[in-house]
Amino acid sequence: MSFKRVLNIIFYREPNDRIDLFKIFPRLKRFFKRRRLHFLIRTIGDLVFAFIILVGLFGPQDPGRNCILFLSWGLWWPTVVLSWFFVGRMWCGFCPFPGAGRIVQRLGLTFNLPIPPALRRYGIHWSVALLALIIWIEESTGIKESPRGTALLLLAILSGATFSAVFFPKQAWCRYLCPMGRLIGVASTLSLTEFRPDHEKCRTCKTFACKRGAEGIPGCPVYLGAFNVRNNLDCLVCGHCIELCDKDSPQLNLRNPFTELITNKGRFITCSYIIPFLMGSQLTRFFEDGGLAIHARYASAWPGQMIIYSAVMVAGFLYAHSFIRFGANLFGITEDELFGKFSPMVPIFVPMAFAGELAYRLGYAFTSAQDFLPTMGRQFGIGCLEELGFHVPTWAYPAIDLPVMTIGTIAGLFVLHEFVNEDFEGLVSVSRYRAIQVLILLMACSYLFLMGTTWRI
Ligand code: SF4
Ligand code: SF4
Ligand code: SF4
Repeated sequence: MSFKRVLNIIFYREPNDRIDLFKIFPRLKRFFKRRRLHFLIRTIGDLVFAFIILVGLFGPQDPGRNCILFLSWGLWWPTVVLSWFFVGRMWCGFCPFPGAGRIVQRLGLTFNLPIPPALRRYGIHWSVALLALIIWIEESTGIKESPRGTALLLLAILSGATFSAVFFPKQAWCRYLCPMGRLIGVASTLSLTEFRPDHEKCRTCKTFACKRGAEGIPGCPVYLGAFNVRNNLDCLVCGHCIELCDKDSPQLNLRNPFTELITNKGRFITCSYIIPFLMGSQLTRFFEDGGLAIHARYASAWPGQMIIYSAVMVAGFLYAHSFIRFGANLFGITEDELFGKFSPMVPIFVPMAFAGELAYRLGYAFTSAQDFLPTMGRQFGIGCLEELGFHVPTWAYPAIDLPVMTIGTIAGLFVLHEFVNEDFEGLVSVSRYRAIQVLILLMACSYLFLMGTTWRI
């Protein structure tokens, strides 16, 4: 594999050009196939997770004396967000939330009910609603400053995954209900990598063991099987099906990150509200974290603050949604003869939405990292750590935000360019094309203006 070929794949969009990383790095495939190391990493993750919950619940509640706040909000979640672009949903293969459910099922404590049609059909919408609820709780209740609140939030998600394992086989929570999984899945449509089968090999398959399982090894935990994976939305990249497939079909491909967004046009992004919601919530978060924190300014008690925060969040959602509606009207095409209705501005705004999320999370990580070691020192009585606090220079915030948002904006403009000049060539007039470009730039300016209020320069 030449370096030039890698660059060609990443930067020049040849929809069918890919490199199978399992062929280039056989050890990577062995890692997924021989589950021992995978299992070990997951177990260590489960133990760290249990530690975070226990210390959050029963440890000191002073944020300056409990390091789980940084571990959860400043280290774990920003790392997961950063991983989306490189490895898509691979985090889900190590995620600790389904761990307790797996134990419950191994003990036979499950009803194994068939998945209700309502869950299959509407689960994805519920997961978006749950995501909205989590972001609302996260931002309006000050949970990021509360060790017990953080632990309770993690416990609530863990309980959802465990209850679902009690009633339904395998990981129904992950397939239909998990709000984080939904977010990661949508973000992974812009990933550099994809887990896919070799459809040629699957065509002659008679066992479909990747889905059904074989010889005491259970099949795909989210009822897919490698042969069903056509996008990055639902597959957990757990690699479970690799050992089940006797035709060596599953591949981990390096690809151009825009391939899936442009080919699918955001159509399988489950619920197109997830992008305006995410963008609106980010604008709200920057607005509130900057000097404009109106919920704290205009209400002294928490119920009032939550109401004001909710109102600002709704306004943020409506603002982002109006860009998507207006842009779609300008684009003029909302239906494709091959796959029906789609919303062109959703895939166009996906890169900016995830750039905004990354910038926000990295900003938080920077701020909270400064006091992590002293906090740990105070919590565990290690005096020498008190000296190891540091200051992140104020220029570091714009130094992160500006390039991240610039890349997100250019990526959005690129998706639009590909739609207008390739997939829908000749169908969108130049004036409308320019107007949508202005719309994208206006949204980028909205981000930068609100981000700027948090830079503390
Ligand atoms: S879908 Fe949710 S619970 Fe399941 S593995 Fe992914 S993040 Fe974890
Ligand atoms: S991935 Fe393997 S087991 Fe699954 S359908 Fe394809 S060939 Fe069969
Ligand atoms: S298709 Fe394979 S890698 Fe994807 S979730 Fe199912 S078992 Fe895991």
